[in-house]
Amino acid sequence: MLEYEAALAQILATLPAAQPERIPLTQAHGRILAEQLVSPLALPPFDNSAMDGYAVQAKDVQGASASSPKSLRLIGRVAAGGNFTGAVETGTCVRIFTGSPLPPGADAVVMQEDTQIDAAHPETILFWDAVKPWENIRFRGEDVKRATITGEPGNELTAGRVSLLAALGFTEISVGKMPVVGLLASGSELIEGGQPLTPGGIYESNRTGLAALLSRTGAVPKVFPLVPDTADATRRALATAFEQCDVVVTSGGVSVGELDFIKSAFTELGGELQFWKVAIRPGRPFVFGQWRGKFLFGLPGNPVSAFVTFLLLVRPALRRWQGATDVHLPRQMGILAEPLANPGDRRHFLRVRIDTAGQVRSAGAQASHILNSLAAANGLLDLPPQSSLPAGAAVQVLNWE
Ligand code: AMP
Ligand code: MG
Repeated sequence: MLEYEAALAQILATLPAAQPERIPLTQAHGRILAEQLVSPLALPPFDNSAMDGYAVQAKDVQGASASSPKSLRLIGRVAAGGNFTGAVETGTCVRIFTGSPLPPGADAVVMQEDTQIDAAHPETILFWDAVKPWENIRFRGEDVKRATITGEPGNELTAGRVSLLAALGFTEISVGKMPVVGLLASGSELIEGGQPLTPGGIYESNRTGLAALLSRTGAVPKVFPLVPDTADATRRALATAFEQCDVVVTSGGVSVGELDFIKSAFTELGGELQFWKVAIRPGRPFVFGQWRGKFLFGLPGNPVSAFVTFLLLVRPALRRWQGATDVHLPRQMGILAEPLANPGDRRHFLRVRIDTAGQVRSAGAQASHILNSLAAANGLLDLPPQSSLPAGAAVQVLNWE
């Protein structure tokens, strides 16, 4: 049986380099950057005011206080987006707003709350407080210097990063293409939602759950019709899916039963197959294959096994396919609210629920057909074989949503 890390390493080593495409920045959230970005300008682009107030020479208001205000002559006004053409000279000030360019000659801004317009002389401003030189000024380039690297290939375009890139004036960027991922469900017992249940039948659920995970992974799901357990139907379904998709994810039909046709159908089509029993629970039978530069992931049919093996082995592959450097599930620190054990001899990824205070509990029964605990869970807890953890233990929870 293969260890999880070894299986994942083999998969990742097989994937080709990402294919870049240019897209509008407004659609780039969640995508993977495919180019190095260098800031074309400084941020802020000019020295500007951090406050609504008055631009002054700091020495002119030195020693100002409530009991002995200083007064300066108002010579102009510069709104945000405006540009004051004069200069602040000794004894003068300019009305200024947050984001307004600092007028030449000024070296500080006094905030409006520390000032008052002289009622008798509206051209005179009284200052109740002093400022230090360069106080309340945001400097050109203090956020980002011009010509610095602001994104590297493999970076995920978070909401924060797209904000930065927008501020730097980028409108189009290169990202890794998203794979089109075909979803096949194999099993003669499976019934489409909306159809009546026949004796022995169950509603098919893996394609729905996996499509939801795919959308979050940065992939385009393409759902194909159900595949009955015959060699012929399986072969035809795989051939169609491979024609239309970059990656095909199947569920069911990868065990050792005589009605498990995924592996044989794939090799008959000319696919190159790797079949593993990965030493994880839920999971175990797992198929990885290549066909003319495209990839097959054959997941076990049990809904929880399909879901968890997708998260642990397919999601990282699909992120790497787009060029992501970091392909692993995000981790969150938590504290066990109850003892948890894995008496088995396989590593167990338990369905757990971590609450907003970081308390971690089992999400319920852990057998691989139990969907109720999957619905209650918001994370997985990686427990080594034959191990137990007491209540109060610090743990890391793998999050998927
Ligand atoms: P298999 O891997 O084909 O042996 O299936 C294992 C178990 O998972 C069986 O109980 C199947 O009925 C069930 N199963 C397989 N595929 C699906 C599916 N797409 N949706 C729901 N249950 C499934
Ligand atoms: Mg089956």
